[in-house]
Amino acid sequence: MATSGLGPRVLLKRLREVMAGPEATQIRLDKIAKLIAANMVAEVCSVYVLREGGWLELYATEGLRAEAVHLSKLKTGEGLVGTIAKEATLLNLSAAREHPAFKYLPETGEEIYNSFLGVPILRAGHTIGVLVVQNRTSRHYSEEEEEALQTTAMVLAEVIASGELAEVTRDVGVDVAHVKSHQLTGDVLAEGIALGHVVLHEPRVVAGNLIAESIPDEQVRLEEAIDQLREQVETLIARTEFGRSGEHDEVLETIRMFAYDRGWMRRMREAVETGLTAEGAVERVQSDVRARMQRQADPYLRERMHDLDDMANRLLRLLTDQTETAAHGDLPRDSIIVAHNMGPAELLDYDRSKLRAVLLEEAAGTSHVAIVARALGVPAIGQIPGLVDLVDTGDPIIVDASNGEVHVRPSAHIEDAYAEKVRLYARRQAKYAKLRDKPAVTRDGEKISLNINAGLLVDLPHLADSGADGIGLYRTELQFMVLQSFPRQGEQTRHYRTILEAAKGRPVVFRSLDIGSDKMLPYFHTQREENPAMGWRALRIALDRPALFRLQMRALLDAAGGKVLRVMFPMVAEVEEFLRARQLVEKERAFLAARGHGLPKQIKLGAMIEVPSIVWQLDQLLPMVDFVSIGSNDLLQFLYASDRGHPRLFGRYDALSPAVLSVIRQIVDKAETHDVALNLCGEMAGNPIEAMALIGLGVKSISMAPAAVGPVKSMVLALNKAMLSEFIMPLLSRPDHSIRGDLEQFAKTNAIPI
Ligand code: PEP
Ligand code: MG
Repeated sequence: MATSGLGPRVLLKRLREVMAGPEATQIRLDKIAKLIAANMVAEVCSVYVLREGGWLELYATEGLRAEAVHLSKLKTGEGLVGTIAKEATLLNLSAAREHPAFKYLPETGEEIYNSFLGVPILRAGHTIGVLVVQNRTSRHYSEEEEEALQTTAMVLAEVIASGELAEVTRDVGVDVAHVKSHQLTGDVLAEGIALGHVVLHEPRVVAGNLIAESIPDEQVRLEEAIDQLREQVETLIARTEFGRSGEHDEVLETIRMFAYDRGWMRRMREAVETGLTAEGAVERVQSDVRARMQRQADPYLRERMHDLDDMANRLLRLLTDQTETAAHGDLPRDSIIVAHNMGPAELLDYDRSKLRAVLLEEAAGTSHVAIVARALGVPAIGQIPGLVDLVDTGDPIIVDASNGEVHVRPSAHIEDAYAEKVRLYARRQAKYAKLRDKPAVTRDGEKISLNINAGLLVDLPHLADSGADGIGLYRTELQFMVLQSFPRQGEQTRHYRTILEAAKGRPVVFRSLDIGSDKMLPYFHTQREENPAMGWRALRIALDRPALFRLQMRALLDAAGGKVLRVMFPMVAEVEEFLRARQLVEKERAFLAARGHGLPKQIKLGAMIEVPSIVWQLDQLLPMVDFVSIGSNDLLQFLYASDRGHPRLFGRYDALSPAVLSVIRQIVDKAETHDVALNLCGEMAGNPIEAMALIGLGVKSISMAPAAVGPVKSMVLALNKAMLSEFIMPLLSRPDHSIRGDLEQFAKTNAIPI
């Protein structure tokens, strides 16, 4: 087949005229088939569109029998057309009938055609149809012809997705992987059940205007966008010197490599020369990459393709002026946010009233985005590999964050079952609400103080709603994390005062800034660290840069005028550190007193027990403090030398192991001896079975996410503490990995809801 000599530019120009016309989609497709056949000197040109059930229906043809239109159908994976759709790849054959996948459809009369060139019609990386040209003579189509047909297929994708066919393709959910229902599992980050529709945190950008009016103008647009992209990448790299790990560095370097990738740039420039707009060219080149990405089994290469996809999306955003994340756009009701991962501040950008749940491919339970999700009371699941590629904006989805299940495009049957589950869940929540004013006392009369963890103003209503005794951990750094610069003293004072007022006399334990490690402030730059969790963080920063710490203490002292102020310090590794921090507080107190400020009627200072070394200094530390609080998240991470946010290590060691429980027992013992109030505020406390174990060890005060108060209280009310203690103590000397099974059995035998 010799090209007609008209070339892709002329073809695109003609296609533009067809697109601008007023006709219905069917007529447009017929015209386009005719145009392509003429332009490519092909005897046949056919358009197949993916319909419900994964069927590819012959929608328009030039050359095949007209009566076959809407009648001939192939299943995805069946015949040459089905293979192209399934594999999202091109087929160029000089003898079509000899191909093993060839399937003869008698109604089309295609037996007389030997050569065959077919390409997938792709939109945002998903196959929505197949475009084919055929010739009688046996020949191999040239690379230019392949290219021309792929470009035409992209324009066709636009016609299909924007016309009356849009409904059809949307209903089928575009390609096969995107039609089917899927059930995935992950780890629960924040409990709850939600039904809604997918909103991609980083929306895929689809270029709308594909055919250029003026090629030189589009060349300028593309070059400008590439320059801007490179600037963005350089800024990104310059900005992140804070907390760059080796791995992080590698990612940034890959991003930079793509931004300067010559092959990528060349292909986009060539695409513009064929008559596409700049965004059309980006999309054209990217479609191939995305399709390959979905078939790529090697996780490393897949990740790299993701990086390139991310770059292409950035370019498209620059060219089409679209927003970066869904948080900045108009959020539909019942939104379920899907992302690879996100920071806590990004989650806070979303409109809470429309946000139903969050699903993340990566995040682990002790990550800070998980902590914020719990603070917001938004159900969340993490560790769901492959989710982002599987869903599209608008897909119906069910999030069961009571047992970590996600149902993508659920069947009616599953939806009904969930409607029932939601009712049951609501009933259980109502039962917990009834317990709200009931004190948490075990059956043998032990009062357990149940508190909530908080960190933002949105948390405050939870204090009253949950019926908690107080705020056991107020993570002050969260307020700092959502701001663009350090809050001034006045701003901090107002914030703390609001919290104390909202607490209406119930105790609030403020933790001094716990920044560093995975809690970065975008405006606080420090040096790169090999081991940030064990690096310059929390109290270490406070003692080395006391100005920041003193300002916070001054704000807290000022805010608590006339009230009891409780402050604890994170990551206390030795007694000396506590004493130095206490001294700084005393200085601030004296400073305010000298200026006649109203002071707290009492100041209680405490230490977090989360660095193992301090466990062996408790006899020295406890006489100096007013209270202590076990930070089990960090304590476990350091006891097991196991990164709390590492996806591979998640679940490797159990909090209910004899080792961990023995350490906690030892701390409880010391606190009892020295008569010092003890609390535990790590994530363990919010899990009824783990909370039960803690009570068995003698912990009398725990602090957790607000949604956990109901289930934990319900466990406490059914528990006989003395019996449990007798049961648990001998288990501590066992050599086992965990005693979870024994505790579950204990709960079952004694009808304790866990
Ligand atoms: C902990 O380490 O257990 C804790 C409560 O603090 P954070 O999770 O903020 O480190
Ligand atoms: Mg901690």
